[in-house]
Amino acid sequence: MRRSQAPTSSSCGARDPLITRFAPSPTGPLHLGHAYSALLAHDMARAENGTFLLRIEDIDRQRAKPEWEAQIIDDLTWLGITWDAAPLRQSDRLPAYRAALETLWRKHLIYPCTCNRRDILAAAAAPHEGEPSMGPDGVIYPGTCRAGFPTRDQLYENPPLPEGVTLRLSMEEAIERTMEDRITEKGPEAFAGFTETGHAPLGYVEFTATQMARDVGDIVLSRKDFLGSYHLSVVLDDADQGITHVIRGEDLYEATKIHVILQRLLGLPVPIYHHHRLIRDEAGSRLAKRDDARAIATYRAEGASPEDIRAMVGL
Ligand code: GLU
Repeated sequence: MRRSQAPTSSSCGARDPLITRFAPSPTGPLHLGHAYSALLAHDMARAENGTFLLRIEDIDRQRAKPEWEAQIIDDLTWLGITWDAAPLRQSDRLPAYRAALETLWRKHLIYPCTCNRRDILAAAAAPHEGEPSMGPDGVIYPGTCRAGFPTRDQLYENPPLPEGVTLRLSMEEAIERTMEDRITEKGPEAFAGFTETGHAPLGYVEFTATQMARDVGDIVLSRKDFLGSYHLSVVLDDADQGITHVIRGEDLYEATKIHVILQRLLGLPVPIYHHHRLIRDEAGSRLAKRDDARAIATYRAEGASPEDIRAMVGL
């Protein structure tokens, strides 16, 4: 297994410039939760004399709509948010996603999967399997297609990257190639980690190979109907935009572990992560995109000011 080190602070004490971003998906209106995330990242960048960037996560062409994008940009501008370069649009990044998939394919880290949701549920809930386990992307894939895919040694020559199919990461292979072995009280275990500044525990947070295999499994890295997936595009885009600090909601905390594995596999830097609290309604439920009553546009139409929005989210 690979050896790598936990990040150390620079010996001269100089801090690298902070580069952060807000990455909305234009699949619905900007709501209070998004506004909080964008304002927090923007305020942190401005306070540090850093850079704030915008990324439009429109990879899902079925759900992303130009009208939503226009509304989001208008709401962000109204909130007083400015960005320091033209927004990066995921729909312009398909060649980069394909190149990364080619790399992972050549390294035998991804495999085609033909299971539909029903197949996965049926295999995961088979009598001897018990209750299907849930991971960050839903039911943990039971590995049906991995089992049928030739192993690295069996493949005489790598066929070309398959088109128009779901491609999954072999988590077992990924763990093998990215995590560091250590002897613990319970025996050998492999670890990876990242630096967290928002969500407790703070500091260098480690996670284990056992957790990744059991709680995450073989996640989708490319979809049948569009190239790439959230996990793949987010790590490639953060690296492309030179993001040093990812500031986003704590609902993505578990996904960060996947992102660290992908960054290590693809030789990309691991940024510092700041997962912030989520904005909830009076009943304590998370605000969902379809909760249009909390849309910034609605508050604007009712005469709220940007300062009112800041006060509502506790900034
Ligand atoms: N596009 C994602 C969302 O709107 C954000 C992803 C991220 O910040 O990493 O939920």
